[in-house]
Amino acid sequence: MKIGILSQYPELYSTRRLVEACERRGHEAVVINALNCYMNINSVKPSIHFEGADIGHIDAIIPRIHAKITFYGCALVRQFEMMGVYAANESIAISRSRDKLRALQLLSRQGVGMPITGFASKPNDIPDLINMVGGAPLVIKLLEGTQGIGVVLAETKTAAESVIEAFFGLKANIMVQEYIKEANGSDIRCFVVGDKVIAAMCRQGPEGDFRSNLHLGGTAQKIKITPEERRTAVAAVKAMGLGIAGVDILRSSRGPLVLEVNSTPGLEGIEKTTDIDVADRIVEHVEKAVAARKGKRHVIA
Ligand code: ADP
Repeated sequence: MKIGILSQYPELYSTRRLVEACERRGHEAVVINALNCYMNINSVKPSIHFEGADIGHIDAIIPRIHAKITFYGCALVRQFEMMGVYAANESIAISRSRDKLRALQLLSRQGVGMPITGFASKPNDIPDLINMVGGAPLVIKLLEGTQGIGVVLAETKTAAESVIEAFFGLKANIMVQEYIKEANGSDIRCFVVGDKVIAAMCRQGPEGDFRSNLHLGGTAQKIKITPEERRTAVAAVKAMGLGIAGVDILRSSRGPLVLEVNSTPGLEGIEKTTDIDVADRIVEHVEKAVAARKGKRHVIA
């Protein structure tokens, strides 16, 4: 097969590992920078041009769309779908997971556990917003934040009020969330491929930090997750409609709570921590999915 890896960064660990896995399994891999593609949208033969020429036949794509280019990246994935190319993560599913509120609403509709979360657009009743999620301590998150940046723990109601006021003053979109103290500065990353958790690790934040992000100095170790955690991770990915995703879960006294479903999960941390060949499992999944859809007609929404 010819497999397109939609990534702006060919030198990145995740991209390199996917290319290697494709080649090891006998496929041709091509790294496609979405920003270098342009699309011909017409009702007869939609096409994509890449680096000056028609991109030609591609059997499958593995989108690795960076959050900064979600809009254009999703449009490109959709164009591939219109051309009948299998996408390991569909454009609609990537869009759902990128909108943090929409994602939480979808999870809540499917009954997937999550921390109680509040969202407001006008700051006229901050105390009520705080009470709605159970009062202080609480976590305030910038909607546009990633890798733990813009995630603040407010220990008291007064601190929460002033942080929320400050964020609203800057016209930032925020959500407020119940603080899950029992998680103890750690969370679980479940790597889901298809309908299975194929690898899981526990991340622990540095001493004194409630955030477990590896980019902020957290450490990771391999763990065995419970059947309930496994079910929760798979249900969360299904709610988004994704094929490949990283699900971040907090261990709470009322069971697993999903924080986020990431449609471009990094491979480096999970492979190095668990010694599992995640890239190989992804390509194997793509092979099976492409084989299963042969002969079927595809309807594009
Ligand atoms: P980002 O997407 O920027 O990484 P997250 O929502 O995943 O932001 O938060 C970063 C980290 O902060 C999480 O991995 C977790 O360790 C911690 N955290 C986030 N929300 C909560 C919460 N409600 N209760 C306790 N810890 C939390």
